[in-house]
Amino acid sequence: MISQELNLTDAVVFRREVQLQITRSAESLSLFIVDMGGIKKIFSRKNPEISRSFLSNIARLLQRLCREQDRLYRIGDFTFGIALADVSSDVHIQLAAEKIVRLHDTAIRDLDVPYKAKVFIGIAKSPEDSAEAHELIRKAGVALEASRSSDDPYFVYRPDAVETLSLKWNLQEEVGAGITARDFSLYYQPKISLSTGRVVGAEALLRWASDSHGSVRPDIFIAIAREIGRMNELTQSLLTTALRQVSEWPRREDADYGVSVNLDADSLKDPDIADVIESSLSIWGGNDHQLTIEITEAALVTESDSNFAILHKLRSMGIGISIDDFGTGYSALSYFKRIPASELKIDQAFVKHMLESDGDRSIVETIIELAHRFDMQVVAEGVETAEQLEMLKKLGCDTAQGFYFSEPLPQDEYCRWLKKTDFA
Ligand code: C2E
Ligand code: CA
Ligand code: CA
Repeated sequence: MISQELNLTDAVVFRREVQLQITRSAESLSLFIVDMGGIKKIFSRKNPEISRSFLSNIARLLQRLCREQDRLYRIGDFTFGIALADVSSDVHIQLAAEKIVRLHDTAIRDLDVPYKAKVFIGIAKSPEDSAEAHELIRKAGVALEASRSSDDPYFVYRPDAVETLSLKWNLQEEVGAGITARDFSLYYQPKISLSTGRVVGAEALLRWASDSHGSVRPDIFIAIAREIGRMNELTQSLLTTALRQVSEWPRREDADYGVSVNLDADSLKDPDIADVIESSLSIWGGNDHQLTIEITEAALVTESDSNFAILHKLRSMGIGISIDDFGTGYSALSYFKRIPASELKIDQAFVKHMLESDGDRSIVETIIELAHRFDMQVVAEGVETAEQLEMLKKLGCDTAQGFYFSEPLPQDEYCRWLKKTDFA
């Protein structure tokens, strides 16, 4: 039983855990995403102690609600994911949701302050809504938005109800308008060479804040862009943004920085993608900066020959191909051999657990050997501690990325960070 601390679970690990729970639960699973961020507005700035005491209290209460087969995760400062095994009837879901609301209200009351805070819960069911963790999490997220916008404490995902609420429509509309207005931004997270300790480049990560919902997670935003058929357009504009911004980075005399842009599976299928990249490169002078495209292993595995052809074309244009989240996509080695990749990115879940888990450390070690055997660079992501860094150096990893060095930063802050860190 977790008494006070419930550590943050990052998105990748959360997705994997939910997939595991889906596979494990004999009949069905309900995923609750619980947003208790209401408390943040009231207290956290004035009194972080109150937030901490609220958090440890609520974690304890929620843990008590969970049976042995259920799982509780903290997925944001005040956001929890709860996977309830074999719960799918409306009555059971309703009971569980109401219980969570009561626990929340109790934890607020225990603080003994004259304020009220609200909780919102989004719920999606597996297998009805999806048996894929990614999709289930997205739908629970949509239900959470519906809960917020209807001001009901909880909302069970229903496509039609979401439409009637016009929430989805609103978000789609907003995302569409955001894409038209290029109203998103790219944050940059540095990649550091482990042999020289210097910055070798950065990964561009998409950020978007909606007027009505605040900041929206990139995976949700991207899923909506895909739903409304505008993902390619978004990819194109973020490619040009990235290349333009890279040309504004301070320059060191002895090295050029590279930039990595994430490409989703759909954009990879876009027949124009190679031309788009080529023209962006010619406009923004990509010669000075190595452009690398990151594609998840999962996206590569599901697609076939046409993908390989595009990847070969990009590679022949001198663009780096990086296989993202490597180790999670179950690719066969024969497949892997055909991908003209220049880089492997070890999934952050392995990095996270490699110090305690011999299994995860062996996976990291194996991926590093595999990459080198195939003449690829290997990047470890999600590096958060000096101990992890030391271990990665020992294992012969080339490059590292993670909060230990820096969080993803907006362009101007990234330029300042670069000057301060890499120009000594
Ligand atoms: P990803 O490509 O695997 O990106 C790495 C994620 O890990 C980022 O989350 C980053 O902020 C986070 N991260 C970096 N260092 C650490 C660390 O030390 N610890 C932990 N716990 N997390 C760390 P973010 O920015 O929320 O992005 C989530 C996912 O959304 C990305 O996963 C990527 O799949 C997708 N995404 C983001 N931007 C884009 C984009 O421009 N295009 C496409 N297609 N997908 C994107
Ligand atoms: Ca990536
Ligand atoms: Ca990744």
